[in-house]
Amino acid sequence: MSAVVDEANGACTRVRCRELPIELVHNGSSRHTEPTADASGSSSASSAHNGHSRSSEPSTKNRKLTNQPENEHQDQMASPTAENEKVSDDRTWPGRGQKRSDYLDWSEYFMAVALLSGERSKDPSMQVGACIVDSDNRIVAIGYNGMPANCPDECMPWAREADDALETKYPYVCHAEMNAILNKNSAHLQGCVIYVALFPCNECAKLIVQSAIRHIVYTCDKYHEKMQCIASRRLFDMAGITYEQFKPRHNKVTIDLRHRCCEINGTRRVSRSREGYLKNSMRLDYITWSEYFVGVALLSAQRSKDPKSQVGACIVSVSKRIVAIGYNGMPRNCDDDRLPWTHHADDPLETKYPYVCHAELNAIMNRNCMALKGCTMYVTRFPCNECAKLILQAGISSVIYLFDKHPERFEYCAARRLFDMARVEYKPYKWRDDAQCVVIDFTSF
Ligand SMILES: [Zn+2]
Ligand SMILES: [Zn+2]
Repeated sequence: MSAVVDEANGACTRVRCRELPIELVHNGSSRHTEPTADASGSSSASSAHNGHSRSSEPSTKNRKLTNQPENEHQDQMASPTAENEKVSDDRTWPGRGQKRSDYLDWSEYFMAVALLSGERSKDPSMQVGACIVDSDNRIVAIGYNGMPANCPDECMPWAREADDALETKYPYVCHAEMNAILNKNSAHLQGCVIYVALFPCNECAKLIVQSAIRHIVYTCDKYHEKMQCIASRRLFDMAGITYEQFKPRHNKVTIDLRHRCCEINGTRRVSRSREGYLKNSMRLDYITWSEYFVGVALLSAQRSKDPKSQVGACIVSVSKRIVAIGYNGMPRNCDDDRLPWTHHADDPLETKYPYVCHAELNAIMNRNCMALKGCTMYVTRFPCNECAKLILQAGISSVIYLFDKHPERFEYCAARRLFDMARVEYKPYKWRDDAQCVVIDFTSF
């Protein structure tokens, strides 16, 4: 992982993700991931990977995957962003040969993943997400608030108040921290950092302390004076667990599901088109599983230092857990600042190509589970043949990609040939007609 650095050069502002235009992207670093809880955030089971599936959507999507052969040659589906199709001139890129500076820093990326997972919550009044990261900057657990595993969301009460306390959500709902901890993809959480939208309550504090998590980063502490949070602080202080409020470099990140891109500090608006909420009932405008996975891939691409192409990949198990994440970047322990980032030079050794690792490679190499058999990879760009080899050898059974702008190129033709022969399904991501923008606003919760 290219870990090096995120020094903030703060400035940055809007970045657009040019997804893929051109060259073969490479990807890099890796991130990793976690388990998603299924359904309600809660996930069920702890069993790690197994899982339960969630009801609704996911399954359908996967099913689709399977049945539809889908055109390989992918149409470029009107790629909205046909923008710089061929970026003809290196000079148009900032710092030729230098790495991109307007990427998300680690903490922004982790908090964005936490907040995005909160968008899966069915709770009409509060959507909270949590993301747990190990000392190697791998995401090892993710969760959001929801009903316990195998308790159908539609059958549970979501009200905050009722004459009968048993008709409120409180006795049943599982907090994001609980779901993340119970769905971890690593053997333990010792020494990890938890990123969470809301300062943990005392019940979650018990789980955090017992997990040996060492640090907490939160965005909001609106219940600071409530008994639950006072008790939490008491436990954390006594156990030597530190906590701090999140301080982002950027205000927000917008994931545009329709245009399949991600923008830092952009101006897009949230377009919620599904019905809001039924009173006292579950939230209806939560994001679907596939939107969530695509969103994680797009977010991870924003960690890339490649000035020209940012690619992200997210690998999901049959039980809907995220088990691997990666983005294009230089190999582990190789300094981002010393290797070339240009895509063209008289000496090919002075281009990025011999060095950079693609997102798919990084995801696979940094996975959080032993086997990837039967998994689905969500990737922002159709894989090249080198990554196709890895995908086949890892046992991944389907690939869902956002863009395939140059299907005629040899590396993509070879990849399709491999996929076809090995019966790995591949299809472009299909957005819902009412696909929305998800704005991850770090400044308001
Ligand atoms: Zn809690
Ligand atoms: Zn590749």
